[in-house]
Amino acid sequence: MEFIENYGILASIAWNSNNWSADPTAADLKRSKYDFVKENQHTHESINFGHERYPAEADGFYIGYTPMLRRLPDVEKAKNVCAVFFLSSDYQQQNRKCIVGMYGFPELGWFERTAEHPVYETYDAGNVRSHVDDIIYFEQPVVIDNERVVREGLLPKGKLISQQGFNYLDSDNVFNILLLAARQNPNNAKLAQLLKKFPNDLSYVTEVIDTDAFRDFLGSQDADSLESLARLEKKMHQLRAQLKERVSSFIERGAIASRVKALTQYKCLVCEALGMNPVGFAKSDGTPYVETHHVEPVAQRAVGSLGLANLITVCANHHRQLHYGNVRLTQQTATHFSFEIDGRRLEIPKIKL
Ligand SMILES: [Zn+2]
Ligand SMILES: [Zn+2]
Repeated sequence: MEFIENYGILASIAWNSNNWSADPTAADLKRSKYDFVKENQHTHESINFGHERYPAEADGFYIGYTPMLRRLPDVEKAKNVCAVFFLSSDYQQQNRKCIVGMYGFPELGWFERTAEHPVYETYDAGNVRSHVDDIIYFEQPVVIDNERVVREGLLPKGKLISQQGFNYLDSDNVFNILLLAARQNPNNAKLAQLLKKFPNDLSYVTEVIDTDAFRDFLGSQDADSLESLARLEKKMHQLRAQLKERVSSFIERGAIASRVKALTQYKCLVCEALGMNPVGFAKSDGTPYVETHHVEPVAQRAVGSLGLANLITVCANHHRQLHYGNVRLTQQTATHFSFEIDGRRLEIPKIKL
């Protein structure tokens, strides 16, 4: 990616124990360094991540606030800013500094709210806005300190976290922060979506993350026993759809799949139902070539879809057809699947141990 200066901003906001979607707590206010905060009992940035709770403006934008933008950055200097990250000190955890979320493709300026909600009587305006799709709260914040900033290139060379709470970031810094945020929040689909909107090279982040998340998820887990399948299945619900598909193809290649193949005598069950020769070519070890397939897409069904009863053996050709062809699962009973393949009805028996 082309190197761009002033591509992002890292801006400090006051801590909010309600995840910046409601008023700060009394304890939050007590910790504030600012007298006006204590007097007025509120911080303007308190609903920066209230975008899922309160209405957006008519144009789909949501308005936030950053104290350090009270004096707006030089317009010319900020014209390339594609991300504003919010940094806050968590007083409940030794004041560790956390990047708690971001506004992607923001506009800076002074914006009055026109959307209606009682909470907007207090929070009536702000100085940064993004489309709600591009506002991401990090459930797992990115915890930083100056050592990490240097080690992982999170601020421009030679810079440390600003005491005034405002840093410009170059495109490398933005990239590195997004990578950390995405690694820590691998199941944040909105973040994955936002990454795709950044220039070409950034989209590769999503792939890195998918691979990482997949590896983390599997750990030392194999797909070689019914017990390990049951364990995988229990953990699966936390995964995004793409990752579920990866787990599914991992299992389609594992040892349990070999057992399933032996059970069906290496036959393509679709070929068999069509009255064709169901046994494929012999591999070098003499066993016929066959593949396993999850009938119900694992991504669409949380429980039971990894189990044996959802696996069938098929030839390579029919496997592709099941994924990409004109195929409908019309019914399933305890013992059978009914398919419609190119308009033709087929019954395929379920596998039993
Ligand atoms: Zn076949
Ligand atoms: Zn398949």
